[in-house]
Amino acid sequence: MSARLIDGKAIAAEVRATVKAQVAERTAAGHRPPGLAVVLVGENPASQVYVRNKRKACDEVGFVSVSHDLPASTTQDELLALVDALNCDDSIDGILVQLPLPDHINEETVIERISPMKDVDGFHPYNVGRLTLRMPLLRPCTPYGCMTLLAHTGVDLVGKDAVIIGQSNIVGRPMALELLAARCTITICHSKTRNLEEKIRNADIVVAAVGVPRFVKGEWIKPGAIVIDVGINRLDDGKLCGDVDFDSAVEKASWITPVPGGVGPMTIATLLQNTLAAQQLRD
Ligand code: NAD
Repeated sequence: MSARLIDGKAIAAEVRATVKAQVAERTAAGHRPPGLAVVLVGENPASQVYVRNKRKACDEVGFVSVSHDLPASTTQDELLALVDALNCDDSIDGILVQLPLPDHINEETVIERISPMKDVDGFHPYNVGRLTLRMPLLRPCTPYGCMTLLAHTGVDLVGKDAVIIGQSNIVGRPMALELLAARCTITICHSKTRNLEEKIRNADIVVAAVGVPRFVKGEWIKPGAIVIDVGINRLDDGKLCGDVDFDSAVEKASWITPVPGGVGPMTIATLLQNTLAAQQLRD
């Protein structure tokens, strides 16, 4: 058996085109274009690339993106003052503070300061709480993007056994909440989980968000399972690979996301969806 690929690149392009068309329709009807403020503190090279891609994606769909590139020496109070100003700025619908922040700044404090209505990353406790209560408002981008990928398989998720490997606040936990809301039975695994392999062997859906190259082996995958690989790992030769051993897993799964070209492109596409949704919330 060879799995069908879930083409994140193509699905993300569809999502972006839909957002672009909706923005054009809304601006033709007299609305201003959605505004996204992207805040970068310091000079982390990976963050610089992510931020550049986010700003470019905004321009392509007709958003106004406002850049705030701050030096690494920015104090927490200075950053909080900027967040306060953006919270009050009526031309800004979404605020994205790129993580990680320098060590002297507390990420939770900054995330909590962002107005939940402008929290387009979906990381604010208010938005995570709403997802927990099955009343989602602005949903964390990467897990929400994974749900869009799952929807494209056409497979009914209700009652499926889903194993999520990883319990981070930005991927593993909200992914589990998304799958629970979709009425899957969820198992969340982490570095202290016992018998991980056995749990994966019983899963109809496997979501890998570990950060370890090719951690999940094909032989652990139940025949016909759906495999969503969130991992993005750069190897010594410069190539990217996921948290799943793709070559062996593709032989067992029914559907699988490649890396690159799977979950990665969905995160920015979902950020755009969230920013448009945030503007509509404030209409
Ligand atoms: P993280 O380091 O915060 O979390 C990793 C999780 O894996 C932890 O919960 C840890 O308990 C678990 N883990 C580690 N070793 C394990 C083991 N041996 N067995 C079981 N669980 C183990 O990472 P993260 O921020 O959640 O990111 C995970 C991966 O997803 C990384 O590769 C990251 O680059 C990628 N990522 C991709 C996107 C995207 O847009 N596609 C977005 C965010 C993160």
